[in-house]
Amino acid sequence: MAQPRALVIGGSIAGLLAAHALRGAGWDAVVYERAEGDLRSRGAGLGTHEQLIAIFARLGLPVDSTVGVEVDTRICLDRTGRITHRIAMPQRMSAWARVYRLLKDALPAQQYRYGMELVRVDQDERGVTALFADGTRERGDLLIGADGVRSTVRGQLWPGIEPSYAGYVAWRGLVDESAFPAAIHDEIFEYYSFCLPPGEIMLSYPVPGRHNETTRGRRGYNHIWYRPVDAEHGLRALCTDAAGVCHGTAIAPPLIRPDVIAAMRADARALLAPQIATLVEITEQPFFQAIFDLESRHTVQGRIALVGDAAFVARPHVGMGVTKAALDVVCLAEALAGASSIESALARYEQQQRPFGSALVAQARRMGTPIKSAPHTAPQDPEDVMRHMGSPLVDLDRLRAGEP
Ligand SMILES: Cc1cc2nc3c(=O)[nH]c(=O)nc-3n(C[C@H](O)[C@H](O)[C@H](O)COP(=O)(O)OP(=O)(O)OC[C@H]3O[C@@H](n4cnc5c(N)ncnc54)[C@H](O)[C@@H]3O)c2cc1C
Repeated sequence: MAQPRALVIGGSIAGLLAAHALRGAGWDAVVYERAEGDLRSRGAGLGTHEQLIAIFARLGLPVDSTVGVEVDTRICLDRTGRITHRIAMPQRMSAWARVYRLLKDALPAQQYRYGMELVRVDQDERGVTALFADGTRERGDLLIGADGVRSTVRGQLWPGIEPSYAGYVAWRGLVDESAFPAAIHDEIFEYYSFCLPPGEIMLSYPVPGRHNETTRGRRGYNHIWYRPVDAEHGLRALCTDAAGVCHGTAIAPPLIRPDVIAAMRADARALLAPQIATLVEITEQPFFQAIFDLESRHTVQGRIALVGDAAFVARPHVGMGVTKAALDVVCLAEALAGASSIESALARYEQQQRPFGSALVAQARRMGTPIKSAPHTAPQDPEDVMRHMGSPLVDLDRLRAGEP
């Protein structure tokens, strides 16, 4: 029998993982990415889980301790900069760029096509046809929509399933270890740290440096500050550039107005521990992302399946974007390996991963409930926040059973 062929739409983390998992299961898998060249990091970190590292190893990826920076302890700082809480929680913190490079470099170049924007997919009983913006048509046995939160594949098959704004944004930034003031370095660099102003959550942790180094002096320190912003006026204003053009719900970092950044820095000085406010001050290019939930009622139709953010987006508090994508593609590859038909394999995949995705979205939504504007703020329990935000994945079985 001829080798089955999968068309993978989207060449970020989920698409690359899908290609590796399917190739491991004996498929020919080709990734089609609309960007013209390598994807550039949004410069932010992410937590790893032991389940993710195990999947990398199982897919034959060259993963070792340099995939991230080991952190043992979480601390909470009050407004004066005093450490008020401390808990032991070992975890390896990585960065999007590090994981992307690991996956991309291990995929043969001919399996990855740049500049290929999917515009439409058709299917019949024998296979799928993908139509791209440049007029190219590709035929395969299976199509995987790994095209992210604004998925074209999902939009065509299930119009109306859209991400919904959570009511807050994450201000993010990365500071090189070499730029750290020495006194602050000694106090916080080796820690996963929290500050909890009313209705807001700031967290920060060490990550691989700009060139993915994990050696002392060459690492980075990543910070994420969740702040309520109303959709109607606040988010529009944040996403409006200096020429008065509103860019919707996201704006490229260089276009963020200087007065918006200045106001955010002033708030940091007023609300955060001085050590953390200093980091915000010296961050060269702070940027923000609006936070969304996305829950798909369907993830499979015939020979087409959604994986990663195209299917479900849980708020970042569960720290699961990459690990969930990895669990999705492994589940899909296993279902294909043991099934009598592609359609029945995909149905099985959906049966397993849809309740999991819904449970994750619900859990992350619950973790985000303290992020509210006055007068709706309630006191936060630092121990509780520290134990649960982006924590190691100990409850996978419960989540897989669909229980948030
Ligand atoms: C450039 C980039 C940088 C990121 N940086 C970070 C970070 O620093 N920290 C973090 O936690 N998360 C980051 N993320 C998000 C993170 O990758 C995801 O949440 C998670 O890894 C799951 O991603 P995904 O592959 O499902 O979706 P995404 O990462 O959103 O990838 C979707 C991909 O599909 C492509 N695509 C979309 N539509 C089409 C189409 N019609 N045809 C062809 N291709 C299409 C997009 O160009 C994109 O490459 C980043 C995502 C991107 C794209």
